[in-house]
Amino acid sequence: MRVEKKVALVTGGGSGIGAATSHRLAEEGALVVVSDIDLGAAEQVVNDIIAAGFQAEAHHQDVTDSIQWHDIVNGIVDDHGRFDILVNNAGIVLTGTIEDTTLEDWRQINAVNSEGVFLGTQAAIGVMKRAGGSIINISSIEGLVGDPLIAAYNASKAAVRMMTKSAALHCAEQGYGIRINSVHPGFIETPMVVNGVAAMGEENAKAFQEYVLSSIPVGAMGKPRDIANGVLFLASDESAYMTGSELIIDGGFTAR
Ligand code: NAP
Repeated sequence: MRVEKKVALVTGGGSGIGAATSHRLAEEGALVVVSDIDLGAAEQVVNDIIAAGFQAEAHHQDVTDSIQWHDIVNGIVDDHGRFDILVNNAGIVLTGTIEDTTLEDWRQINAVNSEGVFLGTQAAIGVMKRAGGSIINISSIEGLVGDPLIAAYNASKAAVRMMTKSAALHCAEQGYGIRINSVHPGFIETPMVVNGVAAMGEENAKAFQEYVLSSIPVGAMGKPRDIANGVLFLASDESAYMTGSELIIDGGFTAR
């Protein structure tokens, strides 16, 4: 019961890493608000968590909408009297080099991956500063190293990395008791990756899979629960001395 009695919000919780994180936090005693732009997906995750004997509730949320952020964060405090953990997990990926990325794609990726995390972090600090809390921002290895095929995604995830540090320093200086850290997953088997690979066509998918597996020192892609375990640690009091840090969970990809 590593996060017993805490109240958590996981964005993009209807799928992949967000769904695994919601399960993991609930298993360890948190009441988890699972939000997603796809309410049906969030409801399915919540049904599974409740069926397993734990506590969760589903909400529709588009992380690019500042009014929805205000409503969901204040609603959590009104309903449950506390708000301890925010996992800014919702994210999208679109491929494109610096030459062929359209301004529209650049803005769409940054609106979800970067602005969504900015809005969430700001909204959470507004209510957490009364009693403290832990904010975990899901960046990526793509926020640490470049990839020629995903210029906008690289930029959005690097923004999350530095915004996390700036916000962490601000909260420490103000004595809010709020810790903010980023998590950097490597290649993880989620719908984002599996569907992306399927859309490549058979030949490109095979080449991509060979490239990915040969680039990962441990020789396999990660599972959503591998990331959820790291988030759980950052959410719990076990990481009380960590803020402004980067937790890389990538099977050794960035160690070379
Ligand atoms: P996923 O399976 O696609 O799940 C992402 C969830 O976020 C989906 O349910 C998606 O809904 C939702 N979402 C998209 N736009 C949203 C918005 N504007 N507001 C609220 N929810 C929204 O992806 P994942 O692989 O679990 O990725 C989760 C996070 O980890 C992302 O930030 C991603 O960039 C990061 N990450 C993933 C990997 C990886 O290898 N999988 C590696 C590094 C980092 P829809 O399905 O309806 O769009």
